[in-house]
Amino acid sequence: MRKIRQSKKLRNVRYDVRGPILVEAQRLEAEGHKILKLNIGNPAPFGFEAPEAIVADMVHNLPDAQGYSDSRGIYSARTAVAQYYQSRGLKDVAVEDVFIGNGVSEMISMVLQAFLDDGNEILVPAPDYPLWTGAVSLSGGTPVHYRCDEENGWMPDLADIESKITENTHGIVIINPNNPTGAVYSKEMVAALVDIARRHDLVVFSDEIYEKILFDDAVHHHAAQAAGSDVLCLTFSGLSKAYRVCGYRAGWVMVSGPQELAEDFLEGLTTLSNMRMCANVPAQHAIQTALGGYQSINELIVPGGRFYEQAMLADKLLNEIPGVTSVRPRGALYCFPRLDPEMYPIDDDESFVIELLRAKKILVTHGTGFNWFDTDHFRLVTLPDVDVLEEAIGRIADFLATRR
Ligand code: PLP
Repeated sequence: MRKIRQSKKLRNVRYDVRGPILVEAQRLEAEGHKILKLNIGNPAPFGFEAPEAIVADMVHNLPDAQGYSDSRGIYSARTAVAQYYQSRGLKDVAVEDVFIGNGVSEMISMVLQAFLDDGNEILVPAPDYPLWTGAVSLSGGTPVHYRCDEENGWMPDLADIESKITENTHGIVIINPNNPTGAVYSKEMVAALVDIARRHDLVVFSDEIYEKILFDDAVHHHAAQAAGSDVLCLTFSGLSKAYRVCGYRAGWVMVSGPQELAEDFLEGLTTLSNMRMCANVPAQHAIQTALGGYQSINELIVPGGRFYEQAMLADKLLNEIPGVTSVRPRGALYCFPRLDPEMYPIDDDESFVIELLRAKKILVTHGTGFNWFDTDHFRLVTLPDVDVLEEAIGRIADFLATRR
């Protein structure tokens, strides 16, 4: 038989978080090493449990969740999502504006497939959550990365965005709160980003999956609020992070703005949604309970709560390492520290991460895996308990000391 090759569509598609670095970690595990994996934002392996009511809801509904549902999602879930946005001040959101998916991931891919023609450019933040860059490429589009400015708390560089807009630019991705930087954008910043979209006739894709994971005085602002009725905005969120159920695969996209101008696109999205039948039905049942019930996430993000304490400790310990600086996360589940290139010259940051893994049995993800421009960053997941984090960052510090 002839050699079977991957499709050319995958030429520019990468997802390094689970790429060669994880393969190497698994190889070491097979040799009997214990690896501390700080590469994936998945709360369950770190002792976090989903709110009981959510699990109970899934179990309760399991016998009645055997069939396919409506492709866009079960009515109660879509209503719950619409009402959630209404309660956040987006009074016009209706059930028809909501599509439920197998996590935000599926909705990102589906929306971009429905939206992009070959060569269309989409502005994507750098650093980004790499699914965005990969999914734009897979859909035939061209990701164009705009710089987020570390010196300015990782805020998007508005001038850089403006300078990268061409006649071929069709949309802009906003990730707020941000993975990997932990930045949370002010109301003015969200308004400024949306205003660029308004002036240049761009669609806004707003990934808000960490909207409830906010520290100190950080406040989340929905891009859809700024977009109002004249900018088409697709808002992505789901249960994975705030409700600690990454494995259930429950997410959604909410469409707002001038839908009368987007009928054709929305018809395409509906076709794609129909083609994959529906999202995992048992998990859809959990959505109403999650959004409507007691929000236990609020206990985790304040002083004394695990998400808060771990993020703050990681930030403090990283900044104590000579030549390492890390912008304090204002939300989400990550730190994205910088290694002074004079002290730690790194040509290939993936190799650097693999060296750290082999030497210290800790897996982090290299910055270029998030489409960062330089080889001077890595991302650390702040999910382990404080004792484990202390041990992990201690080992990273020891490793760096051997490279000075
Ligand atoms: N968007 C961002 C910014 C993420 O960090 C993640 C997961 O890490 C996702 C989307 C995917 O989430 P889901 O589990 O809903 O597919």
